Amino acid sequence: MEKNIINNNPQNANQDADHKLVVKKRLVFVRKNNNYTSPTNKPSEVNHASTDRQGSYHASVPHIHDATNTPQKSHSYHSRSGNISNGPRKPFNKSRPPQKRMGTKRIPEQINKKVAEYFIPQTGENIRIIPLGGTEEIGKNITVFEYKNDIIIMDMGFHFGDENTPGIDYIIPNTKYLEDRKDKIRAVIITHGHLDHIGGIPYIMERIGNPPLFTRELTSLMIKKRQEEFPHSAPLNLKVIEKDSSIKLGELSVDFFSVNHTIPDSMGIKIHTPHGNVVNLGDLRVDNVNGVATEEEEKYYTEKFSKHDTLVLLSDSTSSDNPGWNASEKEVCKNIDSIIKNNTRGRLIIGTFASQIERMISMIESAEKYGKKIVVEGRSMKNNIEIVRMAGRLKVGKDTVINVEDMENYPPSRIVILATGAQGDEFAALMRMGGGSHKNVKINKTDTVLLSSSIVPGNEKAVQKLKDNLARQGAKIVTYRTSEVYIHASGHAKRGELEWIYKKVKPTFFIPIHGSHFMLRANEEVAVECGIKPENIIVPDNGTIIEIQNNGTKIVTLREKAPASLVMVDGFSIGDVQEVVIRDRRMLAQDGMFVIIANIDIRSGTLKKSPDIISRGFVYLRESQELLKQTRHIIKKTIEENMVGMNPINFDYLKDLVTDNVSRYLFQQTAKRPMVIPVIIGV
Ligand SMILES: [Zn+2]
Ligand SMILES: [Zn+2]
Repeated sequence: MEKNIINNNPQNANQDADHKLVVKKRLVFVRKNNNYTSPTNKPSEVNHASTDRQGSYHASVPHIHDATNTPQKSHSYHSRSGNISNGPRKPFNKSRPPQKRMGTKRIPEQINKKVAEYFIPQTGENIRIIPLGGTEEIGKNITVFEYKNDIIIMDMGFHFGDENTPGIDYIIPNTKYLEDRKDKIRAVIITHGHLDHIGGIPYIMERIGNPPLFTRELTSLMIKKRQEEFPHSAPLNLKVIEKDSSIKLGELSVDFFSVNHTIPDSMGIKIHTPHGNVVNLGDLRVDNVNGVATEEEEKYYTEKFSKHDTLVLLSDSTSSDNPGWNASEKEVCKNIDSIIKNNTRGRLIIGTFASQIERMISMIESAEKYGKKIVVEGRSMKNNIEIVRMAGRLKVGKDTVINVEDMENYPPSRIVILATGAQGDEFAALMRMGGGSHKNVKINKTDTVLLSSSIVPGNEKAVQKLKDNLARQGAKIVTYRTSEVYIHASGHAKRGELEWIYKKVKPTFFIPIHGSHFMLRANEEVAVECGIKPENIIVPDNGTIIEIQNNGTKIVTLREKAPASLVMVDGFSIGDVQEVVIRDRRMLAQDGMFVIIANIDIRSGTLKKSPDIISRGFVYLRESQELLKQTRHIIKKTIEENMVGMNPINFDYLKDLVTDNVSRYLFQQTAKRPMVIPVIIGV
């Protein structure tokens, strides 16, 4: 690949030779300190060393992205966000040999500092819990449990990139801590099939040595389906477990119990330790009738938790800032059932989350009951329906779900369309229908659109646009706000439900997970209200190392942190040092780029001709002739004045000067800061 050419560039050979000694020192160092973990949030010398220990790792993962897109000719490159004085930046790259960055003399000192910062002690007799992800965001849930010689990983999610990470597909948890302790990992346990719990699997499993993966049947099918998109990854060691079953993992025994969520086969995990049990509830809500837990829930939780032997409880915070109880999902399904039955106006189009699998099953069954046909639009929804059908969880006739092309064969009042995109996602089915760009579904005045979802914070504008578009085409729109009956319920316990759970479980220690910091704090508040001592609660960040010490009597946060910087999936690449790329992208999006190509005559110290300028996204060049003329003048002056007496030519120095002078001038004239990239060629 082009981006890796620099590895093989003979120009770097000397640097590598310079480096061998340093690398040796580092390796010795790392071996001495088995617990040593290096930071991963910036290009780090030590990273190279510690990854060198895992040679087998290289071939099996996608190549790590070269964060700066460094071209081969260092002297012809300059980016404002690049490293100017030290030449092109050499980011952390697992497939590349260690490279010189700061000069060898300074490195040992630097290592010492980093060790002080990142040395992580052995667990000893303590129970260690580390949420590597999912505690500073909704998504990328992953929690590490460690006791003596065993590590159990609970969930492995991801989340999508957003406006802060332009062009990034996914963000996955930083698993450096686990990569350094591969041999201790006994299992990955997945609580349920939502992407914020399974999304990271294809990217992470090989990195951590592909340990066995335990989960229930439907989740296993969802994981397998997703794995089909990664044909080159090593096969997973998937083990299907039953609800209420137990397994032995290393020295530990683990029980599973089922929880109520929006997807079948959701479960919680109970790990037995000599000091007490550690319980992770996964994602859950409490089935209820008007805020009173159902008899089944009462019975089940009493059976599982009445001994009050839970030492630590980890609990979902997603809806912890909402008071009361969720509407019962049964009631939601009943209401939608009656809407499906009574809708005679025309087609009924239901937008919901593809993750609302239980509700989708219910809607399809309702449609069949009333002799209606279902059209499914949206890939994730189609996939999920195919999976539940395969698992035998969807019991309807073969001709209830029809192809969109066959819709014309039935009167509109007999058609129910299930569509993704209730959050206004740009490319989802419902958005395309609203925008008039859907191939098969054109919205008309007899259509009723039911948005069976709440609005995820941050999506307000997009949902507004979706509703505007649909309304413009004449559709009748029913949302959870305008509907007189409940047409949506969250899958995450609200405060009332959390209280109910905490009073049942009565844990000694409490750790809120799954949510942004504010949600975690809200969950902490609930726990305190339920009588859990404030000093027994830890509100973690991603990478916080929590330990239960003194034979299970004390909970503490270690000073050290597990690496938790962002790891991004960008096309085919995975990397953890792409902040510089992201910064460049943001800058390009804001003010565009400005490339200068200058040919200089080395002997005479003059420009061969007027410099070429290429610009995108900055100003319209054809209407900016005066600006260009002045800029060319500045370039010429800067180069020619500074080349006087310069031998040999210091290209980096010239580039820096050109960049500074041109950037300053462009900012004065336009109040914009395009990325200035000078290319200076000596002839
Ligand atoms: Zn979930
Ligand atoms: Zn979740």
